[in-house]
Amino acid sequence: MQRQFRNGPKRRNYPMAKRRFNAPRNVKGIHPSKFINKAIEPEADIPYVPVHSFQDFDLSKQIISNLDYLKYEKPSEIQDKCIPLSLEGKDIIGLANTGTGKTAAFLLPIINKLSRSRDMVSVLILAPTRELAQQIDQEFRNFSAGQKLYSTLVVGGANIGRQIQQIKRGPHVIIGTPGRIKDLIGRRVLRLSNVNTFVLDEADRMCDMGFERDIRSIASEIPRDRQTLCYSATMTDSVKKIVEEFSNNPITISVVKSATNDHIEQDVVHVNDKEHKVETLLEMLSQPEFEKVIVFGETKFGVQRLADRLTKSGIPAEAIHGNKSQSQRERALRNFKNNLVNILVATDVAARGLDIPNVSHVINFDPPKVYDDYVHRIGRTGRAGKTGKALTFVQPRDRN
Ligand code: ADP
Ligand code: MG
Repeated sequence: MQRQFRNGPKRRNYPMAKRRFNAPRNVKGIHPSKFINKAIEPEADIPYVPVHSFQDFDLSKQIISNLDYLKYEKPSEIQDKCIPLSLEGKDIIGLANTGTGKTAAFLLPIINKLSRSRDMVSVLILAPTRELAQQIDQEFRNFSAGQKLYSTLVVGGANIGRQIQQIKRGPHVIIGTPGRIKDLIGRRVLRLSNVNTFVLDEADRMCDMGFERDIRSIASEIPRDRQTLCYSATMTDSVKKIVEEFSNNPITISVVKSATNDHIEQDVVHVNDKEHKVETLLEMLSQPEFEKVIVFGETKFGVQRLADRLTKSGIPAEAIHGNKSQSQRERALRNFKNNLVNILVATDVAARGLDIPNVSHVINFDPPKVYDDYVHRIGRTGRAGKTGKALTFVQPRDRN
């Protein structure tokens, strides 16, 4: 189904089918005052005191030892509150600020369940982007090490033949993006009749990317008496309704402290026009404090052009957007993660969920369409208790 955006800015030559992914949802823009926020001073930050230690949860010895190895000392608030409920088999809608450990909140109880009954294809995890699915897969491997539990990544842009072979081997967990999962169900390669745990990470994003229908059809293949777990930092009322339809009396646990993660210092940068934006960015990025930066742009084309311009000006930058092949996307992200380049220019494809250590700054070169996108973009910094900075470029037309 094609959504209509009558008032959206004019776009050139986008085929209709692709348009839904980038279509603006709010043409009025966000008032610049919403991009300004002081971070909590480190000394004023009162860390959450968890009720449980990881040892208190009914988790297998191997998981506890893996957590120890990964230097997870104590549960974060969302973990503290959701893990016991999840272990009881409850359906959960878990809401917590960016970078506060939602992945472990759903993965640890899943791995614990699997360590007791090692059923094939009994867990399905959906995520909005391939990179996020990949990251969840990596986390699954970290937390489940030594237990001979297997996962398969089922995402678009990757060799489907190999994915089919892997599914046939009978992994315990399938992690993927809705489109490819639905494709493989259609080909009768993937059967979900044994799934007892269904996870929607960043459910709100999947719905506004236009995946709602795919998710409905996937959910209809899974037995109704499953456990359903949904996590995000943001949730609109309409998406919550949809998620509730998939679930059985879900418990909503919200530990969202403020709209944005309060470890992120936020400010605006006034710029006159397009060229001035580029000059300002170049000047900023040549300062040493801008150590590791994600620059968000609006369009795939604009993002690529900006990355090329930076690189030509002596500031090597990688670009990540939907016009690149999957292997190019992966290489760009890897080079940035491994500090081979310090600048990643990205569309919103990188706004959700990605956990890249030590991002010092997020710069919104182009403003986000809606405030929730802003929350997630800047949430790539200030993760796991660290501090970060977010700067948003504001042009005269935005200052009203
Ligand atoms: P979210 O999904 O809430 O944005 P993630 O699950 O990606 O956050 O976690 C953010 C970072 O915090 C990751 O690097 C993760 O390894 C780390 N982390 C999560 N929980 C803990 C914990 N209890 N102790 C230490 N580090 C943690
Ligand atoms: Mg996450």
